[in-house]
Amino acid sequence: MRILVTGGAGFIGSALIRHIIRHSSHTVLNLDKQTYAGNLDSLASVADSPRYQFSQTDVCDAAALAAQLRLFQPALVIHLAAESHVDRSIDGPADFIHTNIVGTYTLLETCRPYWQGLDPERKAAFRFHHVSTDEVYGDLDGTSELFTETTSYSPSSPYSASKASSDHLVHAWQRTYGLPTLVSNCSNNYGPFHFPEKLIPHMILNALQGRPLPVYGASDQIRDWLYVEDHARTLLEVAVHGRVGETYNIGGHNEKRNLDVVRSICAILEELVPAKPAGVDRYADLIVFVEDRPGHDRRYAIDAGKMFWELGWRPQETFDSGLHKTVRWYLENTSWWQRVLNGTYRLDRIGNQA
Ligand code: NAD
Repeated sequence: MRILVTGGAGFIGSALIRHIIRHSSHTVLNLDKQTYAGNLDSLASVADSPRYQFSQTDVCDAAALAAQLRLFQPALVIHLAAESHVDRSIDGPADFIHTNIVGTYTLLETCRPYWQGLDPERKAAFRFHHVSTDEVYGDLDGTSELFTETTSYSPSSPYSASKASSDHLVHAWQRTYGLPTLVSNCSNNYGPFHFPEKLIPHMILNALQGRPLPVYGASDQIRDWLYVEDHARTLLEVAVHGRVGETYNIGGHNEKRNLDVVRSICAILEELVPAKPAGVDRYADLIVFVEDRPGHDRRYAIDAGKMFWELGWRPQETFDSGLHKTVRWYLENTSWWQRVLNGTYRLDRIGNQA
């Protein structure tokens, strides 16, 4: 199968492409604008594969998208390209509106004539899979509920509002034009190749450098964590075997308070790196509480029952095993994150330009 992936140089997109190249015989075209979050170093292990191609393309550029669709002739589009960092969406929402809403609209509108022009057999088999987040459902503060596929949308941040909008566009293109779409809404991912601004890598790298470990507000935010390679495996499964027109919630049933996540990282580092930076007695002593983010949701938790009953899916990693693997990965791959921190990851281009 020929699979077009948008946002494939990002955290989840690169995990998906590594998974596809290693564990299937499919061919991938990665379309990525290479914003600050796009890092082709994360694809170095598959860049030489004859089944992998890269093109630096903006999903808001309709002409470029149409040309890539015409040339590559995908049977499946998996759309991950997005602005994804909530704090950045609060400081500057414009890029989020543009990429997440206008970009999704542009991709849908270029896929529609492409799909309509396919011969009947390929038209019937074509799929468009949109990758979204559980943050569209809002906040479960003070309840023991879980998000299901029928939970009403109630986004809190510019990021989650822009993702909610993009989900609605995808559903509308399916209902109105019959474009064969699927949507998945996933909980917080963590794992290797995660950009250092996100909670888990930020804490690992700060702790290793003896820097403060900032935890927001009352430190009672609860997130439902999923190891990124479990998500990548699932995305391919849902995109290929899920039912067209459906939404699937993906989560690891790993609800953790952010403060406990940070404490777990400290405990793993105590075990793996007992020699600490000068002046640090225990890694956990570096934890500091900082002013909360505006509109901060307290609790997210996914009911992934539909994935389990319909597709037989369950994650392979527990939070403990996944977190151990993640900390080890950052300890063993210092050059990857050092190139991110010093900015050199943006200077090089690895991959076959399509
Ligand atoms: P990321 O920020 O790591 O990567 C996003 C990628 O999209 C980058 O490679 C970037 O260069 C690319 N991109 C941004 N704007 C673009 C544009 N206009 N055109 C083409 N490419 C562009 O994000 P991620 O964490 O890998 O998330 C991927 C998707 O999964 C997003 O849609 C996000 O909403 C969703 N998601 C993420 C999580 C999570 O925990 N990270 C959880 C659920 C869903």
